Amino acid sequence: MQDWPLRVMRLVDHAEREHGEGEIVTAWADGSVTRTNWRAVAHDARRMAQALEALGCRKGDRIATLAMNHSRHLSSWYGAAGMGGVLHTINPRLFPDQLEYIANHAEDRVLLYDHAFAPLVEAMKPRWTTIERYICFDPPANGVGDTGFMEWIGEQDGDYAWVEGDERDPVGLCYTSGTTGNPKGVLYEHRSTMLHTLAEAAPDIFNLSKQSVVLPIVPMFHANAWGVPWAAPMMGCKLVLSADYRPDTMCRLFREEKVTHSAGVPTIWLTMIDYLERSGDKLSDLKQVTIGGSAAPRAMIRWFLEHGIEVGHAWGMTETSPIGTCGSRPLGWENYSIDEKVEYISRQGRVPFGVELRTVDEDGNALPRDGKSSGNLQCRGPWVIRRYFKAEEDATDEDQWFDTGDVACLHPDGTMQITDRAKDVIKSGGEWISSIELENAAVGFAGVAEAAAIGIAHPKWDERPLLVVVRQEGCDICPDALRSHLATKVAKWWLPDAIEFVDELPHTATGKLSKKMLRERFSAYRFADADARLEELRR
Ligand code: AMP
Repeated sequence: MQDWPLRVMRLVDHAEREHGEGEIVTAWADGSVTRTNWRAVAHDARRMAQALEALGCRKGDRIATLAMNHSRHLSSWYGAAGMGGVLHTINPRLFPDQLEYIANHAEDRVLLYDHAFAPLVEAMKPRWTTIERYICFDPPANGVGDTGFMEWIGEQDGDYAWVEGDERDPVGLCYTSGTTGNPKGVLYEHRSTMLHTLAEAAPDIFNLSKQSVVLPIVPMFHANAWGVPWAAPMMGCKLVLSADYRPDTMCRLFREEKVTHSAGVPTIWLTMIDYLERSGDKLSDLKQVTIGGSAAPRAMIRWFLEHGIEVGHAWGMTETSPIGTCGSRPLGWENYSIDEKVEYISRQGRVPFGVELRTVDEDGNALPRDGKSSGNLQCRGPWVIRRYFKAEEDATDEDQWFDTGDVACLHPDGTMQITDRAKDVIKSGGEWISSIELENAAVGFAGVAEAAAIGIAHPKWDERPLLVVVRQEGCDICPDALRSHLATKVAKWWLPDAIEFVDELPHTATGKLSKKMLRERFSAYRFADADARLEELRR
């Protein structure tokens, strides 16, 4: 058989050749809508690859983006990869210390950004030590600021052959802050991305085809928008991108572009459902939604099913490219009652071919798939991480098992159910908050003896931080003053929604703070401002 390295440029080559007129629609933040197609994206990507080479960039160099979902961002992915570069999508919601760390750690050479992030970029420029060139995707009309993307690539003719190489060459870099310490880089390879893409389009995962109109709500800086911008050109889908996250804009796009497939975190679906219920708007063409990033609430699954929309419940991580499992429907699905369907989908689904899962106890012994035994969830496969970028050691054991930090049980029918989380982090609206950083910041405040941050269920954000504080003897602490202190140390959206004072925190036999016991103690805790309808949908 012929040798055909699995490199991502084959995706856009294929789309250009077979689906050249296939539409890519963008709703920009200023309200305008533009249309392009795969032929134009491929042409722009070639021109960008030439422009990168003209800057002196070479194979393996990291090219960063700080941008929402739009067609120029899409072209830049293929442009960076086509030049043999490594595409580093930066999450603009990280706070300055993290942004400084990751761009310097990645040694990014070029940054392409949205004008909406210009103030952030200007503030970070003195702190980013390796970025030589800044390009703005959508520069203001007055010509002030960095060179615009279209002007930059406009100097090139597009007569360019993609840089070839090994299918195991790196192609993408995403940092995850869902761990302790500094964010960690996950380096995707051409091969791992291609295998993930081939798996993802299948009926049991995203169920994509030439007839699909797909709108990934998940941002392109979140584990590559769960791979949709790679899968859409493979299947020849119409792709709809929105740089604007307001539910009315999104719903209009769904309606006008006849979107059939979409994917996003529960928080965004909650906002959408809330808007649809209030406005009476309908998503008549929508056939399937994929919910992931956090557990899909039962009431949300039910809402979609009752509106004739299939639900795929996906579990995954930045470290798993990100698809680990998704809710494939079993034989006889049409005979399931709605209650049975909701129950089935509320589990996190099954693995596609290419992922292996197991659960282990504290001593590392594999647990039975009996639907009862919960243990640490581990996974392995060709699109699962082996080693973090620039790390000295593998992130897996000698048998390649990667410990996810999630706690789950496996059912006899192959479905996986997340039951808890071993890692000490809080996930709010799809983004991570480090409890340890919050605690360190809190104990730096006069009068705080000990502090613990835990995630509390929140109707809109899935989880929000609660800070539990033990005062030093004889000290009085004003919660507002403590909050103001924290605000100087962490991002605003990390600030705890409430601060509770207790006499003591639970500890394990070895004297370690027991988050498990603390979470149990506060399991019924609710924040005062919870919206009743959202609360209902979250159940
Ligand atoms: P990230 O790397 O930011 O994508 O976060 C991955 C983590 O999000 C996982 O390890 C889980 O803790 C959580 N997660 C992702 N999907 C789900 C899901 N469907 N249900 C519960 N937790 C999830």
